[in-house]
Amino acid sequence: MPPAIGAPPAAGKLPQPPKSTPTFSPDDVTVLFVLGGPGAGKGTQCARLVSEHGFTHLSAGDLLRAEQERPGSQFGDLIKSYIKDGLIVPMEVTIQLLENTMADTLRKAGSAKGRFLIDGFPRKMDQAHKFEETVCPARMVLFYDCPEAVMEKRLLERGKTSGRADDNAESIRKRFRTFVETSMPVVDYYEREGKVIKIDATASPDKVSAATKKRLTEKLGSSF
Ligand code: UDP
Ligand code: MG
Repeated sequence: MPPAIGAPPAAGKLPQPPKSTPTFSPDDVTVLFVLGGPGAGKGTQCARLVSEHGFTHLSAGDLLRAEQERPGSQFGDLIKSYIKDGLIVPMEVTIQLLENTMADTLRKAGSAKGRFLIDGFPRKMDQAHKFEETVCPARMVLFYDCPEAVMEKRLLERGKTSGRADDNAESIRKRFRTFVETSMPVVDYYEREGKVIKIDATASPDKVSAATKKRLTEKLGSSF
């Protein structure tokens, strides 16, 4: 049985008590949320921004999968079942993993300043508010827009080699549903805030990457 949601942890650092000011100031730390449906190409595009523009890429899904595999993690079973069902893991877990990794990155760099691409997060409105209140306000949102038919084809192809428990037809259907019902409202919210850069993600990775850089330059200047 996974632990009940919100049950106090038996040990370890997750989750932490509530607080009112964000850990990182947006003057020091630039956060770009990278959103889009499963298979839209977020990870691929983030990798290019890392190698060419020096961002640190944090994939919420990858952090959750690493925590699931970590020996002794009290969240392993819970994460596993949520991911398989395409559901959103309780946000305390994901937010703490992101915050810890951001803090580690800055510590290792010996700097208060950093630039982060947060990929596949926030997927739900409460996560968006909580992250911005407690960790760091976000500067912009990159939204990779892609039709389900294209994403499904990509995910089934990826599933042949990814080893991911959720790259199969049934999990994919559930992930699409979660995306439409729960995650698109997050994109719509940031759209109303004027923070969304929407990019057509159906083209080749090179073309999508070129469009991303062009749009980021327009919004953040050429040295983004
Ligand atoms: N997930 C979650 N919270 C997050 C990010 C991911 O619960 O903030 C879970 C969710 O079950 C999701 C899965 O991790 O379906 C895989 O996420 P990932 O971002 O790796 O998938 P992608 O969208 O890149 O295909
Ligand atoms: Mg991904």
